[in-house]
Formats: sequence, structure tokens, C-alpha cells
Amino acid sequence: MTRMLLAASLAGLCGCAAAPSAIARPEEPVAVDIEPEVAAIAAPAPDDSDRGPQGLALKAAYDAAMAGAELRQQVFDDPGTSMSLKGDLVQGGLVFGETLPGAKVTLDGEPVMVSEDGRFVLGFGRDHGQSALLVIRHVDGSVVRRALAIADRDFPVDRIDGLDQSKVSGFTEEQLKKIAADKEKKSLARQATDARPFWAAGFTWPVTGRISGVFGSQRILNGEPKTPHSGVDVAAAAGTPVKAPAAGIVRLAEGDMYFEGGLVFIDHGQWLESAFLHLSRIDVKPGDRVEAGQVIGAVGATGRATGPHMHWSLKWMGTLVDPQLAAGAMPGADAAIPAGD
Ligand SMILES: [Zn+2]
Repeated sequence: MTRMLLAASLAGLCGCAAAPSAIARPEEPVAVDIEPEVAAIAAPAPDDSDRGPQGLALKAAYDAAMAGAELRQQVFDDPGTSMSLKGDLVQGGLVFGETLPGAKVTLDGEPVMVSEDGRFVLGFGRDHGQSALLVIRHVDGSVVRRALAIADRDFPVDRIDGLDQSKVSGFTEEQLKKIAADKEKKSLARQATDARPFWAAGFTWPVTGRISGVFGSQRILNGEPKTPHSGVDVAAAAGTPVKAPAAGIVRLAEGDMYFEGGLVFIDHGQWLESAFLHLSRIDVKPGDRVEAGQVIGAVGATGRATGPHMHWSLKWMGTLVDPQLAAGAMPGADAAIPAGD
């Protein structure tokens, strides 16, 4: 496991997102033998006598595979064979995990959703501390604890002075009402998630073009620190199709939000959500199941935007993470340089 963690840490440090598609089990020979074990421990029976023929067969398979206490210890005590992680152990990073079915996972004490086949996703916010505690409790009672080192990142600071103060702060009563109503719609859309790991095949760019804004940058307007930038901006002509970066369920599709303009939320499962802002057109509705690459709308400059671009945010359990790390290098990024915003 040390080796896998190190690989993940290195991926994080170099800022390159490892392709999070197939999360392979570690290659140690013992891992090959784990399948009968998984089947056996997944059978929820208090003792052998109640298990029936199927349970007995599983038990026999288990015994055959796990002959010898030493091997058994190795399987359960070596996290290399009961847990794998892949991704960016860095502020703003996403990490894709896989463990034995039925395991309970917590990160920094918070329960993390695990799919039936043992997949889970972890996210680390912009300001996450330098370590995180991952705890996995297997159905056989064994517990794996891992302190994950989370690499620091420097986020750019944008200072803009001499702006008309009314553009920096202060809203009319009417605007505040609209902002509050929008907030309510967003929180309602975020009350449910799908347990399926739609994220498992990884993420692709919804739009390609020049990156005009990066995740986590801190804007200071007239000396007033504003909320750090919540996602990545890609400059593209109005009307350019926006494609779902991964499969999921549409949770929100609103054409006229005060800040976001045309806004779509896609639930990628297990509280991992994409948001697309400033859309000029929306082609989906709440409840729609979308596939990776499906067109969900078009680039625009609606809401509080200075020009046509696609803003993409990624949120895991309410924590913003960096979509650019999740999507990795942009294909054809050098070729397409549309007008700026
Ligand atoms: Zn943006």
C-alpha cells in the first residue's frame, strides 16, 4: 500500500491527474486470491450453521483460498490488498478508492458513501490541512487506518482596485430576494445523491478552449477579499455545446439564476456534483440520466459573467474541489484559443 499511496502523492505533487478510470487492485500475488474471500465475508450470516448450501460453498471456497492463518492475516492486515486509492492527494484533489464490499469508510471522522461493489470517492478542499485520516472498517471487524499526506498548493491572488464600490458589495432589496430564492432552489437540489459511482470512468472536459480562470484563486476587490473562485473557466464562443464530463443524474436545470445565469447540476453519485454556470441554453431537466459526453446545454454569458465562457465547479460532500485536476490535460488545448472574456 505504501507504494500506491506514494504514487498518489506524487501524482498530486506534479499536479497531473491520474486517469481515474479503472481502479485496479494492487498487483501482489495475494490480491489475486481475494475474490473468494470477498464473497465469503459479504454473506451476512452470524454463524456457519445458518448459511445454507450457498453459504457453505462460499465457506469452502474461502477455506480453500485462505488456508493458513498467516495468509489470512496478510490479507486483512495489509491494506494493500483491501484498499486502493488513486488520484491527487493535494488541496483541491479528488481521490478514487476501492475496498471490499460492505466496508464502512470515514474521512476525518465523517462517514463516506461506499457503493455496493466497494467504490468510494474522497475530496480535499482548497484549504485542507496537511493530513487526513482515512479509516476503513471491514465486515470481518478488521480496521485499516491511514494518515494521508495532503500536499499544499499556492493559489493565485487577483487584486483589483479602483472599482466602483457598488459593483463590489451592496445589493438592492429585490436582488437580495432573488439571491435568497436561488439559494433555496440550490439547496433543495442538493438534498439527494445517487449511491452509484457514476464518476468511476473518470472526467473529461465539458468544453475545450483557453482556460480563463482557475480554481481557488483569491480575488481582492478594492481591498475586500471575495470568495475564492469556485471552479475552472473555459473561454468559448456563445453557443458552443457543453458536454457532461461524466455520467450522472441532472438535479437542477434553471435558466435564470442571479449570479449563475443558466445553471445545471449533475449528480455523479456519492455526493460528487458538477455545476455548469452562465449557460445560454439548457437541454436537460431535473431527473434526466445523462451519459458522459452528452450535450447538456450551450456556453453563454448569463448571470454575473463578463463574457461568454463555461464555468465548471465540482463539489464533493459540500466541499469544492478542482475540476482541472479531475479532467487532466485538455485535448487540443494549444489549437483552440477563442476570444477572451
Ligand atoms: Zn468562473
